[in-house]
Amino acid sequence: MAMNGYEGGLKMIEELTTNAEQTQDEVLREILSRNVGTGYLMGFLHGQTEKWLFKKNVLVVTYEDLKPFIDRIANRETSEILLAKPVTGFYLSSGTSGGQPKLMPVTAEYQKNGALYDTLSQSPTMRHFGDINQAGKRMELMFARPEIETPSGLKAASVLTSVYNESKFRTILPKLYTSPIETIFCPDPNQGLYCQLLFGLIQRDEVVRVGSLFASTVLRGIKFLENHWQELSYDIKTGRLSDWITDSGCRNAASLVMKPNPEQADLIENISNCKSWEGIVTKLWPKARYISCVCTGVMRQYIAELEFYCRGLPLVSTFYACSEALCGINLEPLCKPCDVSYTFLPNMAYFEFLPVENDHDESIEMKRNDEDTELVDLVNVKVGQCYELVVSTCAGLYRYKVGDVLMVSGFYNNAPQFQFVERKNVILNVDQEKTSETDLFKAVIEAKALLDPLGFILTEYTSYVDTSSAPGHYVLFWEIKGKEGKHCKELDPKIMVECCTRMEESLHYTYKIYRKRNIIAALETRVVKQGSFEALMDYYVSKGTSLSQYKKPNCIKSEEALKILDSRVIGKYFSPKSPL
Ligand code: AMP
Repeated sequence: MAMNGYEGGLKMIEELTTNAEQTQDEVLREILSRNVGTGYLMGFLHGQTEKWLFKKNVLVVTYEDLKPFIDRIANRETSEILLAKPVTGFYLSSGTSGGQPKLMPVTAEYQKNGALYDTLSQSPTMRHFGDINQAGKRMELMFARPEIETPSGLKAASVLTSVYNESKFRTILPKLYTSPIETIFCPDPNQGLYCQLLFGLIQRDEVVRVGSLFASTVLRGIKFLENHWQELSYDIKTGRLSDWITDSGCRNAASLVMKPNPEQADLIENISNCKSWEGIVTKLWPKARYISCVCTGVMRQYIAELEFYCRGLPLVSTFYACSEALCGINLEPLCKPCDVSYTFLPNMAYFEFLPVENDHDESIEMKRNDEDTELVDLVNVKVGQCYELVVSTCAGLYRYKVGDVLMVSGFYNNAPQFQFVERKNVILNVDQEKTSETDLFKAVIEAKALLDPLGFILTEYTSYVDTSSAPGHYVLFWEIKGKEGKHCKELDPKIMVECCTRMEESLHYTYKIYRKRNIIAALETRVVKQGSFEALMDYYVSKGTSLSQYKKPNCIKSEEALKILDSRVIGKYFSPKSPL
């Protein structure tokens, strides 16, 4: 369908959401008719393409089930073992939330879908903020990772790296973004970040949108700026790039635009040289209309801090998608970050939903097996119910569990809207009490409320289960920042002990019973120095994670990552009593 700017996008959203059921049926019909002859589907459907047979016979799988097929394609076998269309490459999922990066087959058509999704996801935002493509530039923090070549010769790259490599993106980049391509592809993310901030500051009067894919990267950028603004303004004053930027691409890009600009540098210095950085983004980029970054899911922990720095600007989460499939868009960009819902676009994939029960009702029940639970179609989900997302695509995924839990918050026309709840995997487990990301998040929220009135902010947290002594116990790593020059040392230890107690009290029933019976020992909080979580991010980036796609693990599994945090601990506190 031809689209005329964002109005065309809005019209298409209306049509798709109105005809959600019919569109989903068409998508499934297309997937099956095309791929029924592949080795994988033959095993389930024996050449038949009826929907009911698909639902009855095709297994619901995880990445581990499909991995042998995907690995064979990466190792030179024909893609027809899994999908009919030729595989043009692979997407690498970020892997930081769930372990190793996964390889997802990509086809030419799938990539084309990406462009349509981008237009559709931007349309509601443009309805509110105007056509920002015409109004000015985006200061977007973007980081590509090197591609990996598989034995078949096909390349594997993160979704974003693939986008940055597209010729269309490279053509629009100078007009729509402040960052030159060399800074995005700079092999050293810190040099890339420095230069992207520099270019963003040089063009500050043109910037109408500030952002990155995820909230954590925007915050990383602001904190980096907090530590480097003097150097950046010196570079702008003198028109010379700092010597530590050794990347030749970045230096060349800078040499094309930098010239001494003492006036601009003085302005930036005056704005930045103040005690409180509240609202700094609005001051440095006065024409910015909003901040664009995902603030839901694991990113919700950054909302308070981002709101502090970006005071006066709305935080807009525009999309919910994954390397496996493009899924939903936010039709209400002005709604509060914590209330964001994503309306699913029924043309992007075939979506099914596995109902998820609450594990921690007031009794310890046996959970039903996934195999016993019927999958629900997109249009039949129930408001208020939580589901695990299952997708089928033309790119070789059939009834594939993404691992995300979503809650239905309503419908737009006939398409459901979902709030992101959590990643499916249990993150903390000493003895089958199964504490999820959301359980932990709620407990942390309760506890951190004790810090706020005292002038301290919890900026980052993560966790792990320490089983080095019996019984095992939960360890929380907290990075705390004092407001307006206050130092962490001023924080009364009694308050930290109280925070431990508050977290235990806020955890679920099973946890509390286990604590009472001493199956789990007292919860511990380890306060780490400022910058510890940046060091953690650097570690994951050095291991190959893209800075743009980085999602801080809510639970640490790697020994090395644990060492990074443990070596920066400045205080340890334990809950003194059982919570029941
Ligand atoms: P990746 O595998 O690197 O493509 O990351 C995709 C994952 O990021 C999804 O499965 C979600 O867990 C998470 N994600 C993506 N978009 C959102 C969003 N809008 N809100 C919360 N989590 C998200």
